Amino acid sequence: MSTPLRMCVVCRQMKEKSELLRVVKKDGDFSVDTMGKAQGRGAYICKVGDCCEKFEKQHSFERAFKCALGQDLKEAIKKELI
Ligand SMILES: [Zn+2]
Repeated sequence: MSTPLRMCVVCRQMKEKSELLRVVKKDGDFSVDTMGKAQGRGAYICKVGDCCEKFEKQHSFERAFKCALGQDLKEAIKKELI
């Protein structure tokens, strides 16, 4: 049985979902999906490594979702990653 892989929006590496934090967009609202069960379009970022320091500067989630992210959400993502 193969484990489904997801791509980190920052480093573009394919990883298992357990190694990634999921951010979800639904009806224009973003949330950090700590349980991995939220409905909506998701984008993933590595939980460990440099990606948490790079996503803001590289606008990785903005590119993935094709819209701007609020500062609140960025803070929430960073909180989960540290
Ligand atoms: Zn990464």
